[in-house]
Order: sequence, then C-alpha cells, then structure tokens
Amino acid sequence: MLTQLSATELAAKVRSGDVSAVEVTEAHLDRIAKLDSELGAYLHVDREEALRQATAVDAMVKAGNGGFLVGVPVAVKDNISTLGMPTTCASRILEGYVPPFDATVVAKLKEAGAIVIGKTNLDEFAMGTSCENSAFQDTHNPWDPDRSPGGSSGGSAAAVASEMAPLSLGSDTGGSIRMPAALCGIVGFKPTYGRISRYGLVAFGSSLDQIGPFGRSIEDTALLASVLSGHDPLDSTSLPDSAIRSEGLKDGSLKGLKVALPKQLFGAAINAGVMDALEMAIENLEREGVSCTQVDMPSIDYGVTTYYIIAPAEASSNLARFDGVRFGPQVQGDGHIGNFSATRGKLFGHEVKLRVMVGTYALSAGYYDAFYHRAQQVRGLMAAEFESVFRSYDLVMSPTSPIVAFKLGELKQDPMALKMLDLCTIPANMGGFPSLSLPCGFSQDLPVGMCLTGPVNGDERLLQTAYAIEQALPWGHRRPPLP
Ligand code: GLN
Repeated sequence: MLTQLSATELAAKVRSGDVSAVEVTEAHLDRIAKLDSELGAYLHVDREEALRQATAVDAMVKAGNGGFLVGVPVAVKDNISTLGMPTTCASRILEGYVPPFDATVVAKLKEAGAIVIGKTNLDEFAMGTSCENSAFQDTHNPWDPDRSPGGSSGGSAAAVASEMAPLSLGSDTGGSIRMPAALCGIVGFKPTYGRISRYGLVAFGSSLDQIGPFGRSIEDTALLASVLSGHDPLDSTSLPDSAIRSEGLKDGSLKGLKVALPKQLFGAAINAGVMDALEMAIENLEREGVSCTQVDMPSIDYGVTTYYIIAPAEASSNLARFDGVRFGPQVQGDGHIGNFSATRGKLFGHEVKLRVMVGTYALSAGYYDAFYHRAQQVRGLMAAEFESVFRSYDLVMSPTSPIVAFKLGELKQDPMALKMLDLCTIPANMGGFPSLSLPCGFSQDLPVGMCLTGPVNGDERLLQTAYAIEQALPWGHRRPPLP
C-alpha cells in the first residue's frame, strides 16, 4: 500500500515515474476519509486543492524537474500560515481566517514538490500537552483512540503514526513536537533555534518556538529537516549558516559515544514502565559500545516553573494582536474597548486566557524583577549547565515523556499534572539546543520515546547518532493496530 511507504521511497517512485503524485495523494486522501472521523487529526483537508497540487507536481516531473519531496504529502500544524488555506491555531478567535501568504517552511515544501495535504489539530495556540485544548475537537491516539496523542502538535503526530501522511510539521516551544512523537511512537525533531525559519508561524513564545518535522523514521525526518532548513531574511532570528545537511546520515557509529543521563530525569518523576523500557534500550546501546554516565543537573528541577513564566510572558505580548479587528471574527461590545474585550473574552479558550493573565502579571511593574527577570536568570543557568555537560559528553539522553499516552479527560482537571509532563523536553528550548524523540520500546503496549539533546548546531551529529540508535533498537517498525 502506498500509505505504508516512507517519504524517501515515495519521492523516489514519483521521480522515476513508477507512480504519480496524484496516485500517492489519492491514497492518502482515501485513508484520511477512512480513519480521520475517528482520530480527528485534521482540522482542514481540501481534496480538490491537494489533487490540483499533485497534478502540477506530475507536470513538473514530466518536464524533468522535481525536488527532494516530489509527490510526498505533508500535513501542516494549523498554527503555520498557508496561503489560501485556513489557519486557525485551533482557536475560535481565528475561525475563518485565511492567510494571504505562505510561511517560509510551506513555500519550501512546495518548492521541493511536496503536497500540502491538510492542516492538523493542536492545543489552542499550541498551549497544552494533550490536544484537548483545541476549540474544535479532540485528537485521538492511533494506538488507542481512548487516549491522547500528546500535544500540542497532536494532530501532526497522529496523522503520521496512522499513515494519513508520511511526514508532517509541528512547532515546539516546550516539547510540542517531541512529546506527541513519543506518545504516538514516531520520530519528532526540534532543530537548533534559528535553523528553520519561523516566518509565518503564529508566535507563542518567540524566544522558544521552533518549527520541526515528524516522520516514521530518522531518515525521513532528516530529509524533511534538510528541506525546511536554511537562512531566511524574513526571520530576524534565523541563523546565517543554517542549512541542515542530511547527507552522511548513515555514517555514524555508536562505538565510543558518550551519553549523559541526568539523574533528575531518571528518578521518581518518571513512571516505572517508561523507566524499564528506557533502561532496556540503554543496556542494548551499551552492548553496542555506548558509554552512559549518570550526571547531576540540578537546574532541570527548575525548568517547568521557569518555562511557565517565560512562555506565558511572551504569549501575553504576542497574542495582543488578536483584537477582532485585524484577524478573524469580532464579538460586539460597547465601543472599541468593549469590542476588544468581548472578542477576546468570548473567543479565547480558558487555557489561553489563563496564560495571558499569568504572563501579564509576571511582566507588570513591581513583579517583573521577582518573576520574569528571575526566570530569565534561571534560564541562563540551565543553558550553561547543559553547555558544560556537552564539553564532556556527546549528548544528553532521557525519557521524552514521564508517562505513556494517558486517557483523554484523565488529566484535564489537573493542569499542574499536565504541565509536569514537560519536565524532560523544556531544557532544550531554554538553551535553543537541537533535540529529538525516537521510539525506544513499549510499556502497557503503548510506545515509549527516548529524548536525545545535543549542543547548539549539533543537528547533523544528533540525527546521525539517532539513525545509528534506531538501527540498534528495532522498535520503529511496529505500527498502531489500525485497519
Ligand atoms: N506543553 C507545553 C505548553 O503547554 C509546550 C507547548 C509547546 O511546545 N507548544 O506550553
């Protein structure tokens, strides 16, 4: 079946004329039609538009042109701007908004011959860890539809895990790519801050936000990362020499690799089943010649509290633009201020309002030094602690999520418990480090993810090592029990 093939295989087949982009796109659209009423991964799929793109790609191939992703369908998280296609951030405040431009990553997908097959569900404005904060629908985990796919890029992860797309895009501010990748049993990669353009990503916490790829293998994920990456003058935080090269991916070896295991991420905060799966994976890697050493990284204990000051502070400022005038619908109130507060009061969901209030408070006169400034100092300490570990070790390894996929509704009433799930992923955003999650085993028949983090600009090395680890741990081949 075409939907079971990797992106690398699909592009090769389309390039050689074995299958057409239209056939590949149709196969994925059919699978979406069959499965997505149960999974709820997509917010928007436009069959005709997808087939129109595919027809254009087939013409390109016939004319002897074609990029790295010819004919490959890619699902895009709905906080990334797509020309002529709705971009709602899963929020009522952007219902019906259609951007007049493509995000740089979407333009790059199109240049590479990919088909933008649809827009995927997320927690409203990417604030959440379960996909339950979407204003429109819950997304269900392909391994067990009663469970959450994780968040906030839950739709993108569920789409790839269930073969409704071979590749997808997510955004990661505190773990939103890696966490759902772990819960859905696929690969999710957050590159070094600045190596993939954020132009056209609806900003949440601008100093932490990073767009990145999902795939079912490291090879596919690296291929998509290479297409998306590169300097972009439209993003002032884009790094000058930022192309991620995927050649040489298979040349890495595990022998002599030095891995740090932070004791703070191997303790009581981690569920026993997750720990067992990870420890088994670590034993396997040690047999391949990897040396794994426990290290003490005390700043990690402050990650969640620090993040939940900095991210809301930035969000409170970024979300000020949603005023009912420039984008989306307007709720009438009394005069301009009345319109403004009626629109924001009625159309933002609970979690978004909570964060805007927390962020505004943390930035206000009298509290700025006590909260925001202090959080920035702790952020600096965390980054420095990681940098010092990278002077002696190649990478830091931990679980990606402290637990496997949880039941939808199970943690909804306990927002602190949900936020604690970000424990392992937040440090990479604090320092802008490249970090990825790859499947490393199972607990209760649900996938467990391993999180690998490397030094700034160590993206290629990280992907190379992850490729070698993926070969040594043959978990990636197990697929969810779907028709
Ligand atoms: N779960 C975190 C939050 O709720 C991270 C979200 C993200 O990375 N976008 O903010």
